[in-house]
Amino acid sequence: MKKTIALLFAFLLMISSACADGIIPGQRICQVCGNPTETTECLACGSPKECWVCYDCLTKNLSDTCMKCGKSRKDSLAAQAADPRALTAWPAVSCLAAESDPENLLRLGTYYQRGIVVGQDIDQALALFRKSGEAGYAPAWLYMGKLYDGGIGVAVDLASALDCYQKAADLGSAEACWYVGSFYEEGDGVTQSYSLALDYYQMAADKGDADSLMSLASFYLQGLGVEENQEKALQLYHDAADAGSHLACDYLGYLYMTGTYVDKDVEEGFKWYRKAADLGNARSMYALGYAYQCGQGVETDLKEAAKWYEKAALAGHQNALLVWRTLNR
Ligand SMILES: [Zn+2]
Ligand SMILES: [Zn+2]
Repeated sequence: MKKTIALLFAFLLMISSACADGIIPGQRICQVCGNPTETTECLACGSPKECWVCYDCLTKNLSDTCMKCGKSRKDSLAAQAADPRALTAWPAVSCLAAESDPENLLRLGTYYQRGIVVGQDIDQALALFRKSGEAGYAPAWLYMGKLYDGGIGVAVDLASALDCYQKAADLGSAEACWYVGSFYEEGDGVTQSYSLALDYYQMAADKGDADSLMSLASFYLQGLGVEENQEKALQLYHDAADAGSHLACDYLGYLYMTGTYVDKDVEEGFKWYRKAADLGNARSMYALGYAYQCGQGVETDLKEAAKWYEKAALAGHQNALLVWRTLNR
């Protein structure tokens, strides 16, 4: 009896220390409740080790295909892990992370980073991000780069940020290429180099990255590391707009509305502002309010003006809020 109790105690200690250290890749996780389990039945929920719950029809299964709807265990776990509700996703996230699935190592890391479902633990989060990145998953390096870059939960560390961005860029992330380019453009923790910045922006732009098309455009406009070329810059702004950049649409609106670098064309300017506003750009919403108020590129319409000022204010534009209040006094 004494021996049994001692064994049980040692076992419980093992379980609780496993929980404290977090999910360890290679560990077996209960697919129903997400707890680490080394026994044939989960100590937390009592489910047999083979048991899983179908994400689509909620049927409990033991074999690898759902007996009710035919969904595979693998597809069910992947869909469950992507559920935005952390508690629902948890068993699948922890299972897949324990199987060293890079996407879910990153996801599990964010749980530890924010203290969702598990206790907040930045070291554990960083270890999981690193494991995910080392498995060749670019988004993990990109995510870590942003943490070090912005000092989010860690001290600002530009050298580590650049190192992470570089690793993600090497794995083909266009967004990471933009970040590396911006480090060279600003000379953040590296020797400033417009030509290296251009190389990285070009690499990302070739993959259709809108931010990099914008950055390239501004280099050509100012003649940074290249010969000044307004025509090329304008083409790049249009390319960025086509790639879905609201900033590019907003800027084109400004250029046509004011006749900067282009022949003034208020109707064309209005069109670009409208496009940017539809993409969520608050400045363009404000500009549309002004255009309707003053009849720029469109018939004067004070009702429409008030509507766009209101939209801009709700999108966080401070001046729009003041103007809207004045109009509604
Ligand atoms: Zn369980
Ligand atoms: Zn099913």
